[in-house]
Amino acid sequence: MSNNIVIAIDGYSSCGKSTLAKALAQKLHFIYVDSGAMYRAVTLYFLRHAVDLNDHEEIAEALKNIHLNFHSRDYQTHITLNDEEVSDEIRQMPVSDNVSGVSALREVRHEMVKQQQRMGKSKNIVMDGRDIGTTVFPDAPLKIFMTADPKVRAERRFKELHEKNPDITLEEVFENIAHRDYLDTTRVESPLVRAKDAIILDNTNMTPDEQLDFALDKVNPLLS
Ligand code: C5P
Repeated sequence: MSNNIVIAIDGYSSCGKSTLAKALAQKLHFIYVDSGAMYRAVTLYFLRHAVDLNDHEEIAEALKNIHLNFHSRDYQTHITLNDEEVSDEIRQMPVSDNVSGVSALREVRHEMVKQQQRMGKSKNIVMDGRDIGTTVFPDAPLKIFMTADPKVRAERRFKELHEKNPDITLEEVFENIAHRDYLDTTRVESPLVRAKDAIILDNTNMTPDEQLDFALDKVNPLLS
């Protein structure tokens, strides 16, 4: 039996999951895996190849042609899609607007979950997403479920996106977050839901350092 540690961080869109997951991984020298980046990269491929989301054969064929790889540099997510670095492009609105539709597909989830479980088989990892504590690693010894006021989330994400794309509006970002939350929580295949044994972290009024301290407090007993 392997005794590696998996920390599962789930929660709504843009509530700082990846910021906390990265900080935690860095502090603990664990590997950080951004599962959302995988769904985003698949979405980018589907958009580029105009994959019909109602055609199951086409979806299965497309998935066979998708090869994803993470390259960790300074605990930032660098992901390649068939050897092309797509880390920036997957954060843009065309992908954000379509990712929840693509990630609701059974075939897509099946393949991503398989790959994610492989990554956590023998290594210490922190993985963030929507179904990590419920479906990918239901036995994870630490599960954190993050949430924050939707308006605060939209403002945070807007600030981030606006630097790269000055045309973007706060309303657009708010709508996108609200829509993704709706689709993610209501889909049939592993919807976003808090695992019964997940600890809730509402970070509306918390700094990143406070969140890290909160999480470290929960991790420390696992390390001793
Ligand atoms: O984490 P991020 O916001 O980048 O994820 C983008 C989208 O990918 C989410 O809105 C959700 O639809 C999907 N996702 C998922 N399951 C995960 C991670 C992300 O369905 N484990």
